[in-house]
Amino acid sequence: MNKIVLSVEGLTKIYSNKQKQNKALNDITFSVKQGEVFGLLGPNGAGKTTFLSILAGTVEKTQGKINVWGFDLDKNPRQVRASIGIVPQEVNLDAFFSPKSLLELQAGLYGVTKKDRITNIILKMVSLEKQANSYSRSLSGGMKRRLLIAKAMVHQPPVLILDEPTAGVDVDLRKNLWSNVKELNKEGVTIILTTHYLFEAQEMCDRIAIIDKGNLVALDTTKKLLERISTKKLVLKVDSLDNIKHLAIDGFKFEIIDDKTLSIMYEKSSNKFQLLLQYFNKIGIKITDIHTDDGDLEDVFVELTKN
Ligand code: ADP
Repeated sequence: MNKIVLSVEGLTKIYSNKQKQNKALNDITFSVKQGEVFGLLGPNGAGKTTFLSILAGTVEKTQGKINVWGFDLDKNPRQVRASIGIVPQEVNLDAFFSPKSLLELQAGLYGVTKKDRITNIILKMVSLEKQANSYSRSLSGGMKRRLLIAKAMVHQPPVLILDEPTAGVDVDLRKNLWSNVKELNKEGVTIILTTHYLFEAQEMCDRIAIIDKGNLVALDTTKKLLERISTKKLVLKVDSLDNIKHLAIDGFKFEIIDDKTLSIMYEKSSNKFQLLLQYFNKIGIKITDIHTDDGDLEDVFVELTKN
């Protein structure tokens, strides 16, 4: 069995000020296994930043236990921080430093001795070896993001945390960034990421935790979460609906989109597709094309967080 690299047990955070108390995390429990790409998803205000800030040591938890790479956050906070690399949302790089000197500086801040530094290897991992000595300000947006990942890797943490790494990044750059992250994952780095792009989480993550208003509302493999979607949608192109006023069969919801297109929804588990074909045969409608939509993570997400 894979080693547990992060365990969170009964984690609660209450922000208190004079007027009121705000429970940002409510008794959260989950763990992440070595080698996983784990997604932490939730709408705004869910508590994601609070969780990452507790890990980073900038916010103090109210209750619960956190263990990273075998180190307890209460007893060994420094080792916990040494075991994680956090890639921030904001690009905040010193424009006049080169990637190489930035990484050297960062390694120094982490107390990595010169002989233990792997600056060139890291630059290669994030495909920036050619830009090693250019000014950071001359890098493209995607390169800057990759440099942020490199910065988080200087102390070779076993766990890399990406906080909304592709917010505001265009589609091509996003793909490029993800292939870099996947490479790191292949090298054995466990990845934890928060993202608003559910499609991305669906593509990238082995398992996903969904939090909403501080509560853990789902924790499962991406595959199992997708299996929760119970309705299937079909869009049919037909020869003509001109003479059809009304369509009805038990268990199906029809919607006529135009005189040649209609959408149909039904329960996946009902296995009634055959019935639908027989019905169309009977009323003389010929199907010319069919498009099926099994739903995506967004449907699960909306369902779980709709209140
Ligand atoms: P997310 O990152 O998922 O959007 P946050 O962790 O930022 O969520 O916020 C979770 C909840 O905690 C929100 O209700 C937010 O208003 C509240 N919160 C966050 N930071 C503070 C703070 N410093 N003081 C009081 N309440 C806060």
